Amino acid sequence: MKFQPRASHFIDGEYVEDTNGTAIEVIYPATGEVIARLHSATPVIVEQALNSAKNAQAAWAALSGTERGRILRRASDIMRERNYDLSVLETHDTGKPIQETTVADATSGADALEYFGGLAASLTGEHIPLGGGDFVYTIREALGVCVGIGAWNYPTQIACWKGAPALACGNTMVFKPSETTPLSALKVAEILVEAGAPKGVYNVIQGYGDVGASLVTDPRVAKVSLTGSVPTGRKVYAAAADGMKHVTMELGGKSPMIVFDDADIENAVSGAILGNFYSSGQVCSNGTRVFVQKSIKEAFLRRLSERLDHAKIGDPMDENVSFGPMVSENQMNIALGYIEKGKAEGARLIYGGERIDRDGYFLQPTVFADVTDNMTIAREEIFGPVMSVLDFETEEEVMARANDTEFGLAAGVFTNDLTRAHRIVAGFEAGTCYINTYNLAPVEAPFGGSKMSGVGRENSKLAINHFSEMKTVYVSMNDVEAPY
Ligand code: NDP
Repeated sequence: MKFQPRASHFIDGEYVEDTNGTAIEVIYPATGEVIARLHSATPVIVEQALNSAKNAQAAWAALSGTERGRILRRASDIMRERNYDLSVLETHDTGKPIQETTVADATSGADALEYFGGLAASLTGEHIPLGGGDFVYTIREALGVCVGIGAWNYPTQIACWKGAPALACGNTMVFKPSETTPLSALKVAEILVEAGAPKGVYNVIQGYGDVGASLVTDPRVAKVSLTGSVPTGRKVYAAAADGMKHVTMELGGKSPMIVFDDADIENAVSGAILGNFYSSGQVCSNGTRVFVQKSIKEAFLRRLSERLDHAKIGDPMDENVSFGPMVSENQMNIALGYIEKGKAEGARLIYGGERIDRDGYFLQPTVFADVTDNMTIAREEIFGPVMSVLDFETEEEVMARANDTEFGLAAGVFTNDLTRAHRIVAGFEAGTCYINTYNLAPVEAPFGGSKMSGVGRENSKLAINHFSEMKTVYVSMNDVEAPY
């Protein structure tokens, strides 16, 4: 098999196998063909990975930030050199079109390695004068062993978004990809070793939720960073709380995108397409509740349908294809179930709605109009190519409706009224907001959610605070005064 890795796990700088673990079949979503066979980590493998990360951590943290940063930046260069091959692997692992994977996966991972590699040398504490010559200084310290647990939509990116800041701060990592997409994180581990990372600094083990759960509860682990759904987030957060571990939770969403009647319709339609159909809709920050002001609703829907006719659906390895399959049969069936619910609850299906008659797990880009706030498709995260269009009349009304959700990952507004745009984003209950654009996530900017969509932020300098802690040192330059 062309995509069969040397072994299932990467521990202590080497590929490791234990065939006693539950079998994991890796399926190419475009054809349904098995492209690799792996094994879930047994308790022996979990133990090896945690020991390796624990043993490597002190020496890694003792390197200068410049040395750690140099290794991360070298890894970033290697990823960019191999972008095409890594993208081919990512396309086979996830089904996403090569047109997307060559610009949004290994390249995004490389950005994270480069950015945090660059920051590593400037991670410092501060000096705080207290008067009378006394002072405090702070030391920024690594947390220790960090666990990363990934979702299946951006496997390379997630492996790097978690690994890069963790390693920059002097932590070591055990990363568990989703068992649906286990291949590319192994490449990230390989590349880090090739770039000079000491063995044990970044380990990858495969497994289902039980493996993730055993990592989260292990006393050797200081921090858990999860990308996944809200129900999993709740479980992982609770398990981590028991050991008082640090957490970052990047969870799901049902984000609003508001289109006012003064917006540039072409841009708004582009935003709605990017925010609903990129990666076949399998993006956490997608703006799946598209609120369109009533006066432009029909014009918006007409233009949206015309533009969707230009989506090129097909073999994701064809560079002209812009819309691929969903990641798995299971996810496709979940999305189909929501489409049925949408119809049954009275939403107007204006585009798509069917499975495509070919091998693999292809679903048409689907748009419902006349969606109301209480319909299931407007309340629950679908994580597939299903857009809900809702109408609104006034700013006050749409603001309240946009925020009427347990989620708070992202939110966007399209308008040419400058003050209204800023008023709207000030009112959004969401961690990541967009004005006249949608779904950007550059490494320089904080990314994450409010409310049920998460805790903490990834990317940017803020991520450093989530992978390190401050030690405070009081220094007296005077005699110690005691009451007796
Ligand atoms: P899941 O929540 O099902 O799984 C996420 C990861 O957690 C998987 O690796 C999973 O393993 C693991 N896991 C499951 N149960 C446990 C447990 N009890 N303890 C520890 N680990 C566990 O999410 P999906 O993989 O289905 O991904 C889709 C979800 O991810 C969507 O809700 C989406 O919104 C969210 N997401 C959020 C992003 C963000 O940045 N905010 C980005 C991308 C996705 P296994 O797969 O074996 O069950």
